Parts: sequence; structure tokens; C-alpha cells
Amino acid sequence: MRYRIERRVEDPATAGFAAVVGATLADPRGWSGAGFALVEDPAAEFVVILAEGPEVDRLCAPYRTAGRFSCQNGPVVALNADRWRAGTDRWTGDLAGYRTMLVNHEVGHLLGRHHPPEPQCPVPGRRARVMSQQSTELDGCLPNPWPLPAELAAAARHDEPLAPPYEAYP
Ligand SMILES: [Zn+2]
Repeated sequence: MRYRIERRVEDPATAGFAAVVGATLADPRGWSGAGFALVEDPAAEFVVILAEGPEVDRLCAPYRTAGRFSCQNGPVVALNADRWRAGTDRWTGDLAGYRTMLVNHEVGHLLGRHHPPEPQCPVPGRRARVMSQQSTELDGCLPNPWPLPAELAAAARHDEPLAPPYEAYP
């Protein structure tokens, strides 16, 4: 599965974006551990973009990202640059972990993975699922940048279409 990286911001705090995306997607703890070969290719259709809020909102519509959320919308993964710079106040891990989580979560959507059913944290004190909404609903779960074994096992079935278009209730 080929993807390209676009960093549409230029400040030093986002300088490592491409390196972090590349390392995260190649890491065997991530979705490559579910049998996805994720290869960077400047000509790829799938794209991981870092942009400011208003541009993410345009890329994500009709998802409502409100100037602060990130999304996957068809072949596009659009990550909010402010979240990349600072994480969120609900995230209890470090910033590097937040960035890794953001990449794995949104690329998880690109690979057809969905948010788990509510509650987002069924057992406080355990690691959150990477497809839980950890930016806003960690709710006592431990911050977790990587897919849990059960999430990798589910993804390894490769039974969901890639790059799903907008869904009314994701
Ligand atoms: Zn999500």
C-alpha cells in the first residue's frame, strides 16, 4: 500500500513530520504488524497531510473537524498541525507518543478500521485502543500510540475496504 506525505506548514515544530510518519508506518508495532506493507511513494494516491485547521476542515468536509480535529476522508489523511505541535490536555502521555498515536489512528481509518463502540475506555487503567478517541476521551485509560494485539488481529483479516469515503456515523 503506497502513500505520500505532504507537510503544508513550515514551522520548526513540525519539521520532523515526514520522518515520524515514515517511521510509524514502517514500525512492526503498527499496522505493518497486521500484514500491511506501507511504502512511501511520491506518486501514491493515498496521502498523509499535515495542515492548519482551516485547510484540514476543507480536506475533511463533510466531516466537521472544527479547526482542531484530524480525519481520514477517502484517500486523504489530514492531520491538524496544532494538535501535532501540542497534543491535547486529555492526553496523559508525551508529545512524541501523541504524534505516533495520531498517525496510527488516522491511518487506521485509511485501512478501514473504525472507532470501537462506546465507552471509549471500557476498563480504566488499561491501555486504550489506538482506534479509541484518545485525543478527547482517554477517560482513565493509559495513553497508547500503537494498535493493541486484538486490533492488529482484526486488521490482519483485511476484510474492510481501504480508504472509505465519508460515513455519516463513523
Ligand atoms: Zn477516528
